[in-house]
Amino acid sequence: MAEQDIRQLTITSASQNNRAENKENDSSLRFEEVITIGDISFASLDALAKAASVCTRCDLCQTRTNVVFADGNPKAKLMIIGEGPGQKEDETGLPFVGRAGQLLDKILASVDIDRQWDTYICNIVKCRPPLNRVPTKEEAAACKEYLMAQITFVGPALILLAGSTAVQYTLQLKEPISKIRGRWFDYCGAKAMPIFHPSYLLRNDTKTVGSPKWLMWQDIKLVKEELSRLG
Ligand code: SF4
Repeated sequence: MAEQDIRQLTITSASQNNRAENKENDSSLRFEEVITIGDISFASLDALAKAASVCTRCDLCQTRTNVVFADGNPKAKLMIIGEGPGQKEDETGLPFVGRAGQLLDKILASVDIDRQWDTYICNIVKCRPPLNRVPTKEEAAACKEYLMAQITFVGPALILLAGSTAVQYTLQLKEPISKIRGRWFDYCGAKAMPIFHPSYLLRNDTKTVGSPKWLMWQDIKLVKEELSRLG
């Protein structure tokens, strides 16, 4: 896909709200939708992933090993968005598979949320920033159309925004995660909650009341309640 072909994202399908509400009753929905980026239309997430796998829209393409598109269930009600791939993710082509990813899996499992079945996981940028630096505004903007297309195809009811970079490049909030975590915000027709990034929890290992890990435990219980309520 040539760079000039990917200028704007046009969503030609129903609203996110309608998708989220109808998703349970329409198993073929994601195959009937068409998303157009520039002059090219994508009828499925697979087609979008294939296009991303050879993407050269930003300079991160020059240093990546693999494009890290997503993992999990494309029909999940819960989407998790992180910052970007780290070394392990770059090597494997899968998001959240390093130590932070393993911790995320444990956190999800603690409330009986199965990563592969119950969630769809991706990142703000699909290619690893060198030395795990924070993606630039330009890189995030270049990659955002893929993210918006993923949200459109998946149509999640709930979105978890893991870490401040994910929050800034979606909700455009700059408050520290500690101030806004555990609250629901409207985003693309879904309810989105900022949470601590699991790599932050690895650096703050105490589980005492009020600690980041304890707060994460409160947040993930809220997420589970909301998921259960959705049925
Ligand atoms: S980070 Fe996104 S926009 Fe940049 S090269 Fe990778 S897939 Fe393309």
